[in-house]
Amino acid sequence: MASGEYGVIEAAEAPPTVDEADVVIVGLGCAGVCAAIEAREAGADVLVLERASGGGGVTAMAAGHLYLGGGTRVQKAVGVEDSVEDMVTYLMMNTPEPDEAKIRAYCEQSVAHFDWLVAHGVPFNDTMYKGKHVMQMTDECLIWSGNEEVWPFRDEAKPAPRGHKVAQVGEGGGAKMMECLIAKAQQLGVRIVTDAQVHHLIRENGRIVGVSYRVFGKEKGAVRARKGVMLATGQFTQNEEMLKKYLPELLNPGYTRQFTPNDDGAGHQLGLAAGGVLKHMDGALVTAAFYPPESHIKGILVNKLGQRYCAEDSYHSRSSLFTTKQPGRQGWLILDEKTYQPDPPSWGAYPLVDAFESVEEMEKALGMPEGSLQETLRRYNENAAKGEDPDFHKGKKWLQPLDTAPYAALDASVGAATYMAFTLGGLDVTIDGQVRTADGGVVPGLYAIGACASNIAQDGTGYSSGTCIGESTFFGRRAGRHVVAGK
Ligand SMILES: Cc1cc2nc3c(=O)[nH]c(=O)nc-3n(C[C@H](O)[C@H](O)[C@H](O)COP(=O)(O)OP(=O)(O)OC[C@H]3O[C@@H](n4cnc5c(N)ncnc54)[C@H](O)[C@@H]3O)c2cc1C
Repeated sequence: MASGEYGVIEAAEAPPTVDEADVVIVGLGCAGVCAAIEAREAGADVLVLERASGGGGVTAMAAGHLYLGGGTRVQKAVGVEDSVEDMVTYLMMNTPEPDEAKIRAYCEQSVAHFDWLVAHGVPFNDTMYKGKHVMQMTDECLIWSGNEEVWPFRDEAKPAPRGHKVAQVGEGGGAKMMECLIAKAQQLGVRIVTDAQVHHLIRENGRIVGVSYRVFGKEKGAVRARKGVMLATGQFTQNEEMLKKYLPELLNPGYTRQFTPNDDGAGHQLGLAAGGVLKHMDGALVTAAFYPPESHIKGILVNKLGQRYCAEDSYHSRSSLFTTKQPGRQGWLILDEKTYQPDPPSWGAYPLVDAFESVEEMEKALGMPEGSLQETLRRYNENAAKGEDPDFHKGKKWLQPLDTAPYAALDASVGAATYMAFTLGGLDVTIDGQVRTADGGVVPGLYAIGACASNIAQDGTGYSSGTCIGESTFFGRRAGRHVVAGK
């Protein structure tokens, strides 16, 4: 896995020191830049080493949604009521292994975090996209980006939209955010070295005291860190050896993995070599959205046994993950004349299998057991006519009998629909980003933040878009303050 590329060396064997700083940050994505700004504002000399020729990382590929709530400026401006408690309840329910202290801190300080981002140059408009979409293609800000309105979450926590997109038309919000934050970091005096690939941590008397790096494959030397080293190197989606070990599902050619060439899990490997522990390494965001158009949410998802397997109004990453768990990773979205829309936008990347004059004919063509789909649809329609879904509790507004021929089957299967995926697992860290060891201690001098750490986003069923950048920026900032305080 490490193939010898990443590891730890003792100070006595380290190459000559070429630079020194209070805080050395490895990687200039959203986590690294936020940590750098906080540490610098707390008075530290901060050096960021970035492997690419410029900052941005995967963050710059992102739409730029941040999961924030509890009454942000934007929520208030568009008349959305939200509370910290509802946000806590929702995230606690949604997270497979919730760390309540982290979730509480994230929710309680969410409004302040939003204000901090704005104060540091990240723009958000006071507008909302009201429909159900994967991503607003406008520069509107607020969007429903999770399962807040989906059962059972809606019964326990008052739903509120919390996906805040950076003010940018279409998909470039992440790049815009990085542009603003890097400019701010530079203005504050954060030092940035690019084309610098960190490959070893340096240890002295059991403490991480620096890193060594190379430039275009040539050893450059060591950098000493007086207060601490922060790993902010992002996800491991590009590293096939690591995927084989932790997440072999993603090597299935039916998934399009989303990564930059530098997403080789450097931070994961460096942290592990220093005595850290990895968590939720089998967690991934896997998604193939079938909406928009919204009318497709009124359809039903069935597996090859002709049975439904989830509430179709679930957030797209949740319904997608359920599809991947069906026999043969196969599923179909069944629609009727009233709900099917031809030529949906490209988000609806489920190819049309065919149109059928009867459910019986469709069931046969899809190879389902005789009578299975017919019974599923009969039951669904009977309940939908009463505005009920006793099996999966799909929201009332999406319930409509599917009873008008011709019927359409769209292929939701892995290998047919367009599934995109990236990893979520990372180093086990304290609330302040210190890398934890197996015995419950921490690795002195070492922090991990962003996608190479494991905090709130752990798997795709509970994922709400915006959680990754939200937590990477939030916990990145916390770590930046903590390392300078030197606790
Ligand atoms: C297409 C796509 C869209 C997404 N959209 C969203 C979204 O809208 N909202 C959301 O919350 N999440 C989204 N995510 C997830 C989210 O973007 C990431 O989890 C988050 O941006 C990670 O930030 P980071 O700072 O940890 O890593 P990155 O932004 O990837 O930054 C890591 C940096 O470290 C550098 N690096 C790596 N190895 C080394 C090394 N050895 N030495 C020096 N530097 C190194 C890299 O070059 C990179 O610049 C999306 C992900 C993808 C793939």
